[in-house]
Amino acid sequence: MTTPAQHALALVLHGGAWDIPDELVEPHKKGLRAALKVGWDVLQKRGAAVDAVEEAIIVMEQDDTFDAGRGSFINGAGEVELDASIMNGATFRAGAVAAVQNIPHPITLARAIMEKSEHILLVGMGASRFAREHKIKTCSQDDLITSRELERWRALQAGGAFSTKDAFRRKRHPSGTVGAVALDHRGNVAAGTSTGGTPNKYPGRVGDSPLIGCGTYAENRAGAVSTSGWGEAMIKVVMAKTVIDLMDWHEMGPSRAAEEALKILKKKASGYGGIIVLNPEGDVGIAFNTPRMARAYQTSSMRSPIVEV
Ligand code: ASP
Repeated sequence: MTTPAQHALALVLHGGAWDIPDELVEPHKKGLRAALKVGWDVLQKRGAAVDAVEEAIIVMEQDDTFDAGRGSFINGAGEVELDASIMNGATFRAGAVAAVQNIPHPITLARAIMEKSEHILLVGMGASRFAREHKIKTCSQDDLITSRELERWRALQAGGAFSTKDAFRRKRHPSGTVGAVALDHRGNVAAGTSTGGTPNKYPGRVGDSPLIGCGTYAENRAGAVSTSGWGEAMIKVVMAKTVIDLMDWHEMGPSRAAEEALKILKKKASGYGGIIVLNPEGDVGIAFNTPRMARAYQTSSMRSPIVEV
């Protein structure tokens, strides 16, 4: 009896696309390395792509370097409201939460919605209720707020409110959304994204990250995508699905599809951001039109991971 050859494995992560200052380069790399290790272990132990995505994102949600989970941006009302989504390319199912409070790991809540409900997106109080019913970990607002973000928020409040567009146009347009795409030994793909959104955002504002097709997309036939950047622009060009369509219908490889999608984002919506993508063969694409993007990847054809900012 012959054992079937193992499918190629691949895991790609991002930790935000923006003008990351020099002093934050190392913390971003450290956080990515830790998350990559956890996700890669899952894949190497013949775990599912969707598990690798969730586990890697949990590590980054825990790390207050990133705008996800603890350390997220604070909204105009002084609260942390989180968005996340996950999609399993094998089952073609998806789950997402938006503007949810008191949840340290919204990616886990998004996954529970995908697997334990008939819905895709739950928001606000309903999402919190679902979390309680399914015993998803909760926390206080204070557990999610760091002194760095409190300082930023106070400065923004003192200067008056500004639009999310301005947030991305400023010299330093902070980001730090996290995302992951994975390919497992069965050839299944998955994608996930988690974020605190944009600094000082209007309460209830929802960006691209929890919207399937904008921040996240995965289907076994074409591949998996996660994005980061100015959400209002990303939504208009349906960013993640655009990348998938370029691969699926226009037969582009992941790198070319990511580059072309960014051109569309820039041209149609004057948008900024970054994309991570992989196809079912395990080819990886990463592209961004911001000064820097925190990113990391490992595939079964590589001897060691690549972590770059
Ligand atoms: N895309 C996120 C949002 O607009 C922010 C980011 O990725 O930096 O909510």
